[in-house]
Amino acid sequence: MTTKTIDITALPQCSMGNARRLTVVRYGKCANGKKAYIQAGLHADEPPGLLVMHHLMDELDRLDEEGRIDGEIVLVPVANPVGISQWRDTALSGRADFNTGINFNRNHLDITAQVSEAVKGTLSDDPARNVALIRKRISEELFDIKPDDEGGFLKHRLLSLAYDADIVLDLHCDLQASVHIYTGTPLWPDAADLSAEMGADVTLLAKESGDNPFDEACSRIWWDLAEKHSKFPIPAACLAATVELRGASDVSHELAKDDAQSLIRFLTRRSLVQGEVTDIPKLKHEATPLRGVEHVKAPVPGVVVFLKKPGAVVKKGTPIAEIVNPVELRPEKRSVLVKCTTAGILFSINIDCYARPGRILAKIAGKKPLKGKGNNLLTL
Ligand SMILES: [Zn+2]
Repeated sequence: MTTKTIDITALPQCSMGNARRLTVVRYGKCANGKKAYIQAGLHADEPPGLLVMHHLMDELDRLDEEGRIDGEIVLVPVANPVGISQWRDTALSGRADFNTGINFNRNHLDITAQVSEAVKGTLSDDPARNVALIRKRISEELFDIKPDDEGGFLKHRLLSLAYDADIVLDLHCDLQASVHIYTGTPLWPDAADLSAEMGADVTLLAKESGDNPFDEACSRIWWDLAEKHSKFPIPAACLAATVELRGASDVSHELAKDDAQSLIRFLTRRSLVQGEVTDIPKLKHEATPLRGVEHVKAPVPGVVVFLKKPGAVVKKGTPIAEIVNPVELRPEKRSVLVKCTTAGILFSINIDCYARPGRILAKIAGKKPLKGKGNNLLTL
């Protein structure tokens, strides 16, 4: 007998007579106590993850038929029904909420203070018991929060589906990019098999990246509580990561099938799925600090010609792009080379070819934290 169920929740009405819906697909019965949660399209204009979900469901349907799903696997194939409907002229604009201007992957709920207060006097020397207790308290706190606006309801609903999972994967994409992954510093090197399996060029680590993206809303509470209650063993019980599946135009069945297969191998290794546990592929590059990412910015306006592609290993001073301004009257200034100041891996470049001073053209993962990054390490 198959275990697959589909649950459709209506979001609060956004306008008279209209309500959007969130579809959740579940497999397994959590027989071994393991849970994985995977969502795509939180930034609704990032399509590669949506196609991966299509192929992942094909795979999980087959495994479910064969009775090979051991844990509970929760999929939200289109995690942002609000953003996916935000069309402006001919372009989908799904990164930030039209109503509030807030990025859909920022400002997720942080209930660490409330949970910390609620667990006082109840923790013990048993880490497994502490995990169960903290999850129960998180559940109670979330239950008490009742957002009535559509965007707030959506964020609350997604966290409520994911907070008790051992694994949370949020599938995104960048502009033009190679595969890269954001995760918590305390989750490394445990998460190295995810990076290796997905073929990530870069894994970026932070204990707190600023603005509370979804993966951190699920994972950071664990190490924050461990610091606040340092006498008791509190493990990092949720391996949460934001997986950037290349660039927005990297949408093909070949790539998406490969990515789905990689996720299945990861889930098999993590005992969510029965099957042959394969050797972990060689990690392309060791993880680096998110604080070590150089944002290569345009110094002048013009047309950008990129000189390097995502995945390139670059040295300090490598020319990354050329900016050409045809109406600059001094011929020697008509073309300006933009060089990086950090050695590392170029993992993302802009999707269009217009520069204005200060605009980020490229991102490079360096090995050392950079000074002056401030507290908000993510781009808008
Ligand atoms: Zn995104």
